[in-house]
Amino acid sequence: MRVGVFVCNCGVNIAGVVNVKKVVEEVKKIPGVVHAEEYIYLCSQPGQELIARAIREKNLDGVVVAACTPSLHYDTFSRIVETAGLSKYRFEMVSIRELDSWVHLDKALATEKAVRLIAGAVAKLRGNRVYEPIRIEVVKKVLVIGGGIAGITAALSLAKMGIPVVLIEKSPSIGGKMAMLHETFPTLDCAQCILTPLMAEVSRHPLVKIYTLTELDGVEGHVGRFRVKLRVKPRGVKIGDCRLCGFCERVCPVEVPSEFNRGLSKRKAIYIPFAQAVPSAYVVDFDHCTKCGRCIRVCPVKAIDLEQREEVVEEEVGAIILATGYELYPAEKIPEYGYGSIRDVVDSLQFERILDVQGPTKGEIKRPSDGKPVRRIVFIQCVGSRDVNHLPYCSKICCMYTAKHALLFLERVPGSEAYVFYIDVRTGGKGFEEFYKRVQEEGAVYIKGRVSRIYRDGSTGDLVVEGYDLLDNRELALRADLVVLAPGMVSSLNRKLAELLKIPVDQYMFASEVHPKLRPVETPTPGVLIAGTVQGPKDIPETIAQAASAAAKAAELLLRGFIEKEPIIAEVDKEKCNGCRICVTTCPYGAIEIVEGKAVVNEAICEGCGACEAACPVGAIHLRNYREDQLLEVVKSVLEVG
Ligand code: FAD
Ligand code: SF4
Ligand code: SF4
Ligand code: SF4
Repeated sequence: MRVGVFVCNCGVNIAGVVNVKKVVEEVKKIPGVVHAEEYIYLCSQPGQELIARAIREKNLDGVVVAACTPSLHYDTFSRIVETAGLSKYRFEMVSIRELDSWVHLDKALATEKAVRLIAGAVAKLRGNRVYEPIRIEVVKKVLVIGGGIAGITAALSLAKMGIPVVLIEKSPSIGGKMAMLHETFPTLDCAQCILTPLMAEVSRHPLVKIYTLTELDGVEGHVGRFRVKLRVKPRGVKIGDCRLCGFCERVCPVEVPSEFNRGLSKRKAIYIPFAQAVPSAYVVDFDHCTKCGRCIRVCPVKAIDLEQREEVVEEEVGAIILATGYELYPAEKIPEYGYGSIRDVVDSLQFERILDVQGPTKGEIKRPSDGKPVRRIVFIQCVGSRDVNHLPYCSKICCMYTAKHALLFLERVPGSEAYVFYIDVRTGGKGFEEFYKRVQEEGAVYIKGRVSRIYRDGSTGDLVVEGYDLLDNRELALRADLVVLAPGMVSSLNRKLAELLKIPVDQYMFASEVHPKLRPVETPTPGVLIAGTVQGPKDIPETIAQAASAAAKAAELLLRGFIEKEPIIAEVDKEKCNGCRICVTTCPYGAIEIVEGKAVVNEAICEGCGACEAACPVGAIHLRNYREDQLLEVVKSVLEVG
């Protein structure tokens, strides 16, 4: 083999500690090395040209670059090697910066270490075999799980790129929590005015197939070709036939609390979740329907079918976007606030419904207990959030939506009073600080401190909020007509779904991304992406930006019709393998199965992490170009050189 070694100075980053000239002289003595030189910045244009020229002029068939860490510049240098006509497996990169000059003070020893590391890289290079990239044909279709603003945005942007989408939503309508909101901070746009055109657009788009009342029930396959099973619950009403006349609802004898109005009003067992629901059709709540048949008798178009059964539908998709959103932290878990036992203590989504002209009070701000007009509200932020006994994290949006609530209340009810208990006010966002200032100028009184107890004064009927004002250093007892709690955001993701998709979650059940900065919408399972509040608390603009990014990542995978994958994956020596299954259970990606008593690696799934190689008790499985014999040669060269 004719190996060329290129040693980078990295300015003084490397050359300040390592004697690069000496390294060049020493590595020339390593068997197989026919050329060695150093340069001030190898990653610069002249540095790259120097390597390409040497490959041609010295007829090199192997290259070692000793520079910074491969995670920074492996791609840069392997591209140069390929452009000069060599396979990238004829190239090795070794860090003499992070692993050497940056961590040692003794220049002589650091120089010796650089020589040894390079000797190891030359030995590794000698054992490398050349592989071709693995090509996987892909299905050009994406499954989006969750029909909130994140799922709708991702589905629409994919469809606009010509990629078919299957969008599944577990409730009877798409729209998610945004459909429940009244106006949105900081611009106070009407939530419905922004959302409903998108809901209509996504439902009309010929490339989007929407399944409501549907959840994921099984996943097989891998990036590019997942086979998914969808469990579709019966709607009881034929979607295309229902004319929304409402006759069925009027005669239905069963009344239950409305989920959409968060229990502040009732709905029937046959109902439409909200006026702009998509699909635009009634739905039967089979958990409460008594099958009395009254609705069937009055439906003018025979749209109702109470005998519909659950179905399992199968689809093939190339990528999956998870957008299952959030729920509010159950405020009942903090009994001192009285939520669930005092009717006039409501949570923030209930207050959104009270503000809404289509809501349970037609937009009038009245007490749920007796319908009396509300003149004074105490808002409480961080309900559960930033509390080690509940949710240690900050839910990020509650400061802003509480400011919005206080402003809308003060504007809607002349002469009213709004008090806000807070720990800190966090207003990081475009126009957010200005919005918060405006709310204070409009008269909202902010009190830094915690609330210890809320109770009803039996003689006046008022609520009494006891707390502590940290800035004035005094105890407070505020009277109020209504108390609005701002509970933290919790993930809607459940363990079963995370396991089906083989994605990791953090300790709060939010989906974990591969890298919080560099790969924020990808999960470690190739082809499974995340969007919106399933990843962590966020507001609508951030959710939309992340959903568009997840759609772009899915398109990146699928638009070419095939994926080219790194061929450095695990290989099994069938002679040695005894089928013990240890690798099967060790592989974090589920890439190995036992076929006819021997381990078989699915090359589309294997990510080349090497966990199996370390686990196999008989040395029957190894990573390409990281074979045991090869690594032993590396160790030998490192120890023997010099
Ligand atoms: P969601 O809206 O929760 O949507 C997720 C969807 O997935 C839901 O439809 C759900 O039914 C579905 N789903 C869940 N699990 C499954 C499953 N297993 N299978 C299939 N489907 C599933 N943000 C702003 O920018 N401005 C505001 O003024 C504002 N006000 C707010 C006020 C309040 C009181 C609250 C609580 C939030 C407010 N927000 C505001 C934040 C906003 O609601 C969120 O940023 C946004 O709704 C997040 O969208 P999402 O799609 O991630 O989640
Ligand atoms: Fe009218 Fe029939 Fe639809 Fe009920 S199901 S709203 S009765 S068309
Ligand atoms: Fe075969 Fe080794 Fe896997 Fe056991 S751990 S099944 S011996 S490859
Ligand atoms: Fe699984 Fe990693 Fe082994 Fe591949 S290398 S089979 S991903 S354990």
